[in-house]
Amino acid sequence: MSGRRRAARRLTDLTSTRLQDAVRGRTLVWPIGAIEQHGPHLPLSVDLDLAVAFAEEIARELDAFVLPAQTIGARSLPQSGGGLFFPGTVYVGGDTLIRFLHEALASLGELPATRLVIVNGHYENEPFLFEALDQVRRLGLLDGKEVFAFSWWSLVRETWTDAELPAFPGWHAEHAGVTETSLMLHLHPGLVTEERPEHDAPPRAGVYLHPVDVEQISDRGILSSTAGASAALGEKLLRHVVDEAVNLVSDGKGLLSAQDRQDRRRPAPQPGGTQP
Ligand SMILES: [Zn+2]
Repeated sequence: MSGRRRAARRLTDLTSTRLQDAVRGRTLVWPIGAIEQHGPHLPLSVDLDLAVAFAEEIARELDAFVLPAQTIGARSLPQSGGGLFFPGTVYVGGDTLIRFLHEALASLGELPATRLVIVNGHYENEPFLFEALDQVRRLGLLDGKEVFAFSWWSLVRETWTDAELPAFPGWHAEHAGVTETSLMLHLHPGLVTEERPEHDAPPRAGVYLHPVDVEQISDRGILSSTAGASAALGEKLLRHVVDEAVNLVSDGKGLLSAQDRQDRRRPAPQPGGTQP
């Protein structure tokens, strides 16, 4: 992010002596990322950089403290991240990640903050994050606290993708595609190369295949299309997700409204349409 506003407040800048008073009753925001191949045009840090950017912006909006990011995530899979056929993915297994997050969340739960917002940037982390949270909840370690944990794309409205991305393949296949490329062009343009890979046969969601044909599953690790990526689209998407996150936390319910349900039944606008 550019320095258009003050930096997010960092939890780890506090001293131990100031901590209790500073965070009592406040909100903590924790970005969870990964180190994963993102094709020939994006760095290994995409899932981490995006989780941090969303978390910092959400923390600014909520006047919250942001935690240092969790950098290593769950293994990449062929139908959602290209899998381990492409070099650069550094990961831990799901059982290790659950255990790690469980213990980290349990110790975070001892801080007197009353609200925890967790922003995930890596598709394959999500079930393990939710499992760890629910384990900790069952032990009573979240009593008296509110938790909002989500992958950033889960907050993108279908009306937004319908309007901005008419050929949207589904979030599992958006790995290093038009949205991540746009966000990186907005946030870290110096890390994006000129190449724009295209894979016109995105994988189906929710399917595990073995064997897979590595030549067929992607274009150099990219599962869908980067066509139309731009910094302007990235900025718009960042704003949309941050607004949705702030609404979610303020509202506290995480329900779809009657208007949302109506929007879902509406036919998608024609390509080139603008957001309603
Ligand atoms: Zn990614």
